[in-house]
Order: sequence, then C-alpha cells, then structure tokens
Amino acid sequence: MDIISKKLKESKKEKQIRIKKIMEKLEEIFTLRVFEDRNPYRVLIRTILSQRTRDENTDKASSMLFSKYKTMEEIATAPTEGIEKLVKVAGFFRVKARRIQEVSQLLIDEYGGIVPNNFKELMELPGVGRKTANCVLVYAFQIPAIPVDTHVHRITNLWGLVNTKTPEETELELAKFIPKDLWIDLNDLMVQFGQQICKPNHMLCEKCPITEYCDYFSNLQD
Ligand code: SF4
Repeated sequence: MDIISKKLKESKKEKQIRIKKIMEKLEEIFTLRVFEDRNPYRVLIRTILSQRTRDENTDKASSMLFSKYKTMEEIATAPTEGIEKLVKVAGFFRVKARRIQEVSQLLIDEYGGIVPNNFKELMELPGVGRKTANCVLVYAFQIPAIPVDTHVHRITNLWGLVNTKTPEETELELAKFIPKDLWIDLNDLMVQFGQQICKPNHMLCEKCPITEYCDYFSNLQD
C-alpha cells in the first residue's frame, strides 16, 4: 500500500481513539453475524473453504458439505471426489477437499475430535494459517484475536492506521494499539464495510460514514 499517511506521527493513544470512533460508527451500521452456530469444527472448515473466494461461495459450499456430511468422522472417511463436488463452488476445490479431510483426520487422531482453542495448536493443523487460526478463535470461541483478511489489510492501510505490505504485518501492527475488547468484532465489521462501502476498486466514499477518520479521503481533499 502506498498511501502516505498524514498521521505517521500519530501516537498510540490517538490511534486508539480513532479506531474506537470508527468501530462505534460501524457498529451503528452493521449487525454482527454468527457463523455455523459457533461450532468450532464447522467454523474451521468454513474458514478453510473461504480462502480465496467470495462469501456467497463459502456459504454455498459450506451448506452443501454439511447438509450431506454431519460429522468430522463422516467427512474424514467420505470419498474425496464426493467432497470435491460439494465444495466445488468455493474454488481450488481439490486442494480444499484434501485439506478438509486431512484436518478432520488429524483432529480425530491427535485431538480426540476436539478443535483446539489456542493459536499455537490451530497453526499446526494442515491448511491453517494465521488468518484461519484467528478466525476460529474469534468466530468459534469468542477469544480476542485479529483475523486480517484482504479487507482488513487494505482498509486499515487506507485509513493510515498502518503502513504495511502484508496481512501478517498488519495484524502485528494493529495488535500494538487496538484495545483487546475491540478485537472480536473488528473483522466482522470491517468485512461488511469492505463488501458494502469501501469496496476493493470501487470505494463509495460519497456514502462513507467515516470519511473524517480516513487518511485516503483527507489526502483526496488536498
Ligand atoms: S472514505 Fe472512502 S476510502 Fe476512506 S474508508 Fe470511506 S470508502 Fe474507504
């Protein structure tokens, strides 16, 4: 991201105030969602399915998969081609089907069929990176974490709250100043904001409720 922040010298305290104001605005507009009834296994599989695809495709793939196979054991032992067909709409379906079965088998073999509720063990599962692990912590366990997807990475750079190149860098920078009590809601609010207002390649700045907190917007006015 090459947006030059006017607020490079903004203190940690000032950034905290800005993100709090932003979150308050976003909370007024968007309703927080509950995915897969917060079932940890389903949230994990859903998050693997969501990699590199749109939300509507994730919804379809997840619903088709879990309407046919109800449990971890059924998914681990199902014919791979059958899983591939069910999740095809989510893209990269061969890789995703294989990962879903691998992770299911590993959970059965090593974790007694229980999805771990800590970052370290989640990261040891096949197909699970930082974003997926953090999504499981937040969306399944309601444990504070900052899942940084493309929306969170792109928009926090537009705001000028961070000046980073990768989602991982963004996560580490955000964690330095965002108060922990905001972490759980951050991803969901920002994803909805990114899908509906600050869209990739088509930001609806004229409809945006937080222009006063956005460096990109204030740079446009100069
Ligand atoms: S003002 Fe524009 S660029 Fe800034 S957050 Fe709003 S929509 Fe995104």
